[in-house]
Amino acid sequence: MFTRSDSRPITVVTGGAGFLGSHLTDRLLSEGHRVIGLDNLITGSVANIEHLAGNENYKFIRQDVSNYIFLPDDVDFVFHFASPASPIDYLEHPIPTLKVGALGTHNTLGLAKAKKATFLLASTSECYGDPLVHPQREDYWGNVNPIGPRGVYDEAKRFAEAMTMAYHRYHHVDTKIVRIFNTYGPRMRLKDGRVVPAFIGQALKGEPLTIFGDGSQTRSFCYVSDLIDGIFRLAMSDFHEPVNIGNPREMTIKQFAEQIQSITGTSSQIEYRPLPVDDPKVRQPDITRARTVLGWEPKVDFDTGIRQTIEYFRPRVG
Ligand code: UDP
Repeated sequence: MFTRSDSRPITVVTGGAGFLGSHLTDRLLSEGHRVIGLDNLITGSVANIEHLAGNENYKFIRQDVSNYIFLPDDVDFVFHFASPASPIDYLEHPIPTLKVGALGTHNTLGLAKAKKATFLLASTSECYGDPLVHPQREDYWGNVNPIGPRGVYDEAKRFAEAMTMAYHRYHHVDTKIVRIFNTYGPRMRLKDGRVVPAFIGQALKGEPLTIFGDGSQTRSFCYVSDLIDGIFRLAMSDFHEPVNIGNPREMTIKQFAEQIQSITGTSSQIEYRPLPVDDPKVRQPDITRARTVLGWEPKVDFDTGIRQTIEYFRPRVG
């Protein structure tokens, strides 16, 4: 059991075996935190945390945080990162996605309140839906289809933000909300359906790169270490409104496919497939708030980040 016997913070990370949760855990451990990872492993993987086996400052509990969370430990921070987070994952797990955003957020806020801990919600650019304002600022309320296939994720996260602000205003819990834009890097799952692992995997196997729609839709990709740094700064700040964290470098999906072709040197051609329902046409974070409040901006350029990601995937492509 972790107790406040010394000055090292005790920190809970839900979704701790996921792509972002595991990178966040590494950062927290390097900052001297003791970390309790919770994950039901429906999309997370123990491979992401196996390097922590035997680390006395880390423990992992397999648990679905949509159910009541019992922890005897003292807790200083709760980072709620548990959720399926790629379009095919939340299409495959629509009800767990709704539950972890709603019930899981309620439970983790309850945990933070009971332990007098600071709470940070991993929210998403999906709160802006298919945005009518571009780039997206935090004061934009979004354009979300509640009953479309992406609605299970978007509305769960919007509810989670509302719940977080209610705990802040009514229970005076110290809360933060990060709206995470497209992020990439090592520990993404090759087959999670997102465009970065999809194109890299296809390029490395010599298979066609599958562009959905005509490829004119845009995304802005942030390297994982930059994202984690922004989140860590936000957790340590005293700012309670949502903050966008992402890289404003915007490109079309077609441009992204061409970059992957050229960096990997693949002979893969491009193949066009139907655009998924409600696929946002544009996405780019306005990071003025993160710059001003947190003194944060991304540092890793696209070429460096994408090459590191390709090297991670190369031995994993079957
Ligand atoms: N996409 C694509 N081919 C793929 C996977 C995704 O063209 O094999 C497109 C997808 O339609 C979207 C963009 O790439 O416009 C980013 O998709 P992703 O699933 O990575 O995340 P999203 O930003 O849509 O949540």
